[in-house]
Amino acid sequence: MTRSRWLALFAVAFAVVTFFYFDLDALLTLENLKAEQASLEAQIAEQPALFVTGFFVIYVLATAVSLPGAATAMTLVAGALLGLVWGVVFVSFASTIGATLAMILGRWLFKEEIERRFPSQLATINRGIEKDGAFYLFTLRLVPIFPFWAINILMALTRMRVLQFYLISQLGMFAGTLVYVNAGTELARIEQASDVLSPGLIASFVLLGVFPLLAKWLVDFLRARRVYSNYERPRRFDTDMVVIGAGSGGLVAALIAATVKARVTLIEKNKMGGDCLNTGCVPSKALIRSARHAYDNRRGGELGFDNIELPVDLNKVMRRVQRAIAKIEPHDSVERYESLGVDVELGEGRIVSPWQVEVNGKLITTRNIIIATGAEPFVPPIAGIEMVDYLTSDNIWSLEQLPGRTIVLGGGPIGTELTQALARLGSQVTQVELLPNILPREDIEFSTLVREQLEAEGVSVMTGYKATEVGSDGGENYLVVTDEAGIEQRVLFDRLVVAVGRKANTTGFGLEEIGVELNANGTVAVDDYLRTNFPNIFAIGDVAGPYQFTHTASHMAWYAAVNALFGVFRKFRVDYSVIPWATFCAPEIARVGMNEQEAKAAGIDYEVTTYDVSDLDRAIADEAAHGLVKVLTRAGSDKVIGATIAAEHAGELIGEFTLAMKHGIGLKKIMGTIHIYPTFLEMNKFAASEWRKAHKPEWALAVAERFHAWRRG
Ligand SMILES: Cc1cc2nc3c(=O)[nH]c(=O)nc-3n(C[C@H](O)[C@H](O)[C@H](O)COP(=O)(O)OP(=O)(O)OC[C@H]3O[C@@H](n4cnc5c(N)ncnc54)[C@H](O)[C@@H]3O)c2cc1C
Repeated sequence: MTRSRWLALFAVAFAVVTFFYFDLDALLTLENLKAEQASLEAQIAEQPALFVTGFFVIYVLATAVSLPGAATAMTLVAGALLGLVWGVVFVSFASTIGATLAMILGRWLFKEEIERRFPSQLATINRGIEKDGAFYLFTLRLVPIFPFWAINILMALTRMRVLQFYLISQLGMFAGTLVYVNAGTELARIEQASDVLSPGLIASFVLLGVFPLLAKWLVDFLRARRVYSNYERPRRFDTDMVVIGAGSGGLVAALIAATVKARVTLIEKNKMGGDCLNTGCVPSKALIRSARHAYDNRRGGELGFDNIELPVDLNKVMRRVQRAIAKIEPHDSVERYESLGVDVELGEGRIVSPWQVEVNGKLITTRNIIIATGAEPFVPPIAGIEMVDYLTSDNIWSLEQLPGRTIVLGGGPIGTELTQALARLGSQVTQVELLPNILPREDIEFSTLVREQLEAEGVSVMTGYKATEVGSDGGENYLVVTDEAGIEQRVLFDRLVVAVGRKANTTGFGLEEIGVELNANGTVAVDDYLRTNFPNIFAIGDVAGPYQFTHTASHMAWYAAVNALFGVFRKFRVDYSVIPWATFCAPEIARVGMNEQEAKAAGIDYEVTTYDVSDLDRAIADEAAHGLVKVLTRAGSDKVIGATIAAEHAGELIGEFTLAMKHGIGLKKIMGTIHIYPTFLEMNKFAASEWRKAHKPEWALAVAERFHAWRRG
């Protein structure tokens, strides 16, 4: 906190302490007010304008510095001296102006510091404020059990606009003001403060407080009625839940429902297991493993052998990829799921109404629907692209011949994994990316490490190039790419792989017809409970985002299934606070939490600690001594706010930081934990030691040095 802020805080604290030290609070007791009533009335009769103005200024200042109890006492005085109408007008403006000044002061004093220390908590609160802020503040103002000054300070920490705060406060406090000013007019008859809060009055306050909640339920109810208005709700349901899509999200949602003894129907139009098993994680990791074998042979010299260029039969490699899929398939099979109590329907599901899904000519009535229809490769509208038989992550797994020259369009995780795998198998690969770096979501050190490795393996990485046209000339396919200066180049290719992103599957199965709302990026819009605009229809996984991973799809599945089945008792907000992920190129890049670019953008006060993997014994022994561990901690603390690792097995190693973040374990504890020697895992501990070294207590070491010198004599 800056010096001026400390001074201001000190001044406010001084004012409050002085107030109590000189027993000025005694002036605000009911007895004193009653005793002074006659003299106050005389003053007001003598110089009404001066008295009212002075009183107004004192009221505003007392509330602005949050003098406890002052507002209540002065409101009663206002009632007693000014009567109901003028008292209400006076207090309504004085208290709102004072509250707003208190909020502005609190914001100036504390907001920056609190945002720095608790960024994620504040981000969550601010999201709520953005959505329902006006309503929350109104509720808080209406319910007199929430202290007036505490609400001002609380709201100071949020991003609520000052004018909005002012208007809602004035409106929200009006009922309370009326009650208290009215009580003030009865001052002579009130014997003690508790009379103001008589059971009858409390009951009316509670009613006033509950009113906004009732109003919110009413608004929700009306909103729901509006979306459901065109449909007749069945009187009985065939099933508790229909899940559309048997991929990573749908499978888990159905399994949870069956486990808690709900009746659930899982519908799949293509292959059980969805993208991850059939065209995503599993085949890509299997291909990467085979490609690594070819690469390890090529660099055999580094390990004491000859460099061998293995002949690559892509057909055989892809057969191995399919074998891996086939081995995992039983985990996601119809038989397994039916044995676990799930009704599986193989066919295209179509939502007919919010409670009806049609599949294979059958109409199933259901209490809830979970949309888990995934995403598909996005193919950009490049002129002439439809003229070539381009590949995507959907069909590349049936490629039988390794292309001589491949262009991979896209520098994200999928594009980068495929680039390296195809290059290692022996294709001459050019990777084209529009942005200045590949893996643009990662910090520059990591994208540079991967780029250097790709280039060392013979890939031509073209970043900052827009693909503008696909054509063919004399039997040769070419892609026209244009750089920022508008200079065009032609890149020749035999096969083009399109991996520029994935678009949510939201069309053709009833969402448009019933009016399920979408986000601007085409994903299904869901609230914190994963409900769509139809409260009994949920969406999870790639179709909803914001993350498109298998583990996030299943994470969301838990929330959607539990909220759908048990939401009448308790609903759970989906928690995205600690999400790890990895790109399985070499070196593998794994991350959890924030990286530096995100921490900077969020204005967080952070520290960076790095450890260079080239020093690690096990990495040296394994001829894998390259990579980096980068840990972000909150400034002055060992609490991890994010970690990125570039190394072999990074996807496994990040687990330690994920656990640390999830459970608030700091770097000191990671350092104090025994790690097996020699392992790759030691790099986490060494990164933690680097942090410790940078924070060693110099004064204690100086004392220790003197102590040893003294003992040596
Ligand atoms: C090449 C590649 C590599 C990847 N690697 C990884 C990785 O290493 N790690 C990771 O975490 N993630 C990875 N992913 C992402 C991961 O595959 C997805 O995030 C995950 O599959 C999403 O699961 P989902 O349930 O949302 O959708 P999906 O798994 O796509 O499942 C959706 C299912 O819904 C079905 N469906 C659609 N419409 C209907 C309908 N109307 N009726 C019936 N069925 C319907 C589809 O046929 C599909 O089976 C990768 C993706 C790709 C493409």
